[in-house]
Amino acid sequence: MGLFGTNGVRGKANEKITPSLAMDIARSLGKYMKGEGTIAIGKDTRISGDMLKSAAIAGALSAGLEVIDIGTAPTPSIQYYVRDYADAGIVITASHNPREDNGIKLIAGDGTEFSREGEAEVEKIYFAKDFTPANWDQTGNLRKDLSANNYYINGIINAVDSKRIQKKGFRVAVDTGCGAGSLTLPFLLRRLGCEVITINAQPDGTFPWRNPEPTPDVLGELIDIVKNYGADMGVAQDGDADRAVFIDENGNFIDEEILLAMLGKHILNIKKGPLVTPVSSSKRLLDIAKENGVEIVWTAVGSINVARKMMEIGAVYGGEGNGGLIFPEHQYCRDGAMACAKLLEIMASGVKLSEMAADVPKYSNFKTKVRCKNLLGTMEAVKKEILRKENNVDTTDGLKIWRDEGWLLIRPSGTEPIIRIFAEAENDEQAIRLMKEGEELVNQYNK
Ligand code: MG
Repeated sequence: MGLFGTNGVRGKANEKITPSLAMDIARSLGKYMKGEGTIAIGKDTRISGDMLKSAAIAGALSAGLEVIDIGTAPTPSIQYYVRDYADAGIVITASHNPREDNGIKLIAGDGTEFSREGEAEVEKIYFAKDFTPANWDQTGNLRKDLSANNYYINGIINAVDSKRIQKKGFRVAVDTGCGAGSLTLPFLLRRLGCEVITINAQPDGTFPWRNPEPTPDVLGELIDIVKNYGADMGVAQDGDADRAVFIDENGNFIDEEILLAMLGKHILNIKKGPLVTPVSSSKRLLDIAKENGVEIVWTAVGSINVARKMMEIGAVYGGEGNGGLIFPEHQYCRDGAMACAKLLEIMASGVKLSEMAADVPKYSNFKTKVRCKNLLGTMEAVKKEILRKENNVDTTDGLKIWRDEGWLLIRPSGTEPIIRIFAEAENDEQAIRLMKEGEELVNQYNK
């Protein structure tokens, strides 16, 4: 198993994610960069963040890199800073994982996440312990720069029609979950002329009220505030604030696949161009692309694949159906605060969140998973069978079968011995039938 999963290295702090791990990853990155250049290191609000950040800084300095400590900041804020002021970055975060976890994520010089190939190189150095300590007079210098969050907020203000939003004086209820977004989102919204009501907006790595993942079941208080105070929007973020989820003015949680589609629809009203999303996303975005006569490109799962493809083809918008949305006018990474500002910009034209959500195609989605004894063997056998029987199969990531009534995706997990099965169709009955078909097929070859 490799060191990096789909989103960096994650696990329980001070058990799996130790100071020596952080130091050795930074030393490996330093060797990968040939001991030259400047890296920025930042963290989310987790308790173990200072411990791991200090270790990563020591490792990078030992390798001869110049280091800028940018303190506590959302992942997209760190990415925005790296793009403009550093040659690479390290983010100490476990994103939406539970309280006790932490993690390490590498950022490329252009502000995007590290490529899989780059990670593989760093991994190779890490496992071989093939570090090259700098000579005593070549170890790096450290400086602090606490301007990243402000720089990031300014970037968003400039990337949307702020004047139009400011005139509206929206009332917005915010739950940043005591994560890194507590340092940016309420301040951004105030500068956008909003009346801001916050809960869980004190940075606190014990996450005293809710875990960092903003699932609908932990957002009851936010929903009550939206209803009781007549807010135009409720917004909640995960621990590192690259994702945001939304509550409409009636207190309804907006499904993240619907969010992806409804923003796409409004963005295409303003500007036509290609869209990018992973094969696991809903067909809603495809329908919207067709309506507008633009291309949609399906990528492998993982925001880095979406971001890189967007850069390559000059896409106007892209994202994943888990609330990770990418807006090229700001930067090529998942950005929760930017998604929030963009929604407000659209709402400033007079449309309510509930109306936007109701105005996208409706589909039924179901998913399940099968635990496998031999993951790769099972996938290989299933693939043979599907390619023999089906004529419209996308093999970008796993096996996606397109049918008239919808689609079915059979995909191995990158971190566990399970195969995930996703289905989407016009109604529940058809979607369940597709899902069961996939499940039976996998079970048939699960030996
Ligand atoms: Mg996150």
